[in-house]
Amino acid sequence: MQYQALVLAMWNNHMIWVLGSSRLIRETGFDCPRPVVIWRKLTMLYPASFGDNPLYPKDTDFRVIRKDDTNGFGVISLRSFKRGEIVAAMAGERVSDIRQHTLQIDDNTHLHDTYFSGYFLHSCSPNISLDMRNMLITAVKDIAANSYLTMDYAETEQVLFRQFACACGSENCRGWITGNQEIHPGFIQEAIACGPDAA
Ligand SMILES: [Zn+2]
Repeated sequence: MQYQALVLAMWNNHMIWVLGSSRLIRETGFDCPRPVVIWRKLTMLYPASFGDNPLYPKDTDFRVIRKDDTNGFGVISLRSFKRGEIVAAMAGERVSDIRQHTLQIDDNTHLHDTYFSGYFLHSCSPNISLDMRNMLITAVKDIAANSYLTMDYAETEQVLFRQFACACGSENCRGWITGNQEIHPGFIQEAIACGPDAA
């Protein structure tokens, strides 16, 4: 047991200390009988610079993964939540423009979160609701472990980064997803049909 050392490793934003070597233990006085991970300091999805809000998402509870070519990335909850339960708190950079991974805070401010909330998938029958004033995510349905977290993009967004055809499969699927202040193409057709030249 000559090769191990006290290792401070960074892996996916997580700081891991590994202690090994009986020699090291003798020399340092650490009472640790064999190589073992003794401390996993950070398990947050957000970098340490975001602060240590205990409601920030942990990598033991959530995983950002690529779902498929159509949907891109999504966030899976590894644990279950009851309806009404706080799921997590959000954080990120406040920016003034709409980007691919932003969520709207108010008329002129957007949260750019490339670690967690910026990857929520859309559903017309979502399982989470976002409170952008308090930066809190709440379960609006019971959520089973290993489910994707889904939000309704029109809940927060006035204008989408990109409108898209929805295939969420819910009964009330709107089919074409826009921001809440964008005109749905269906309304334009209706307006034309009801205009002065109609009938
Ligand atoms: Zn839908």
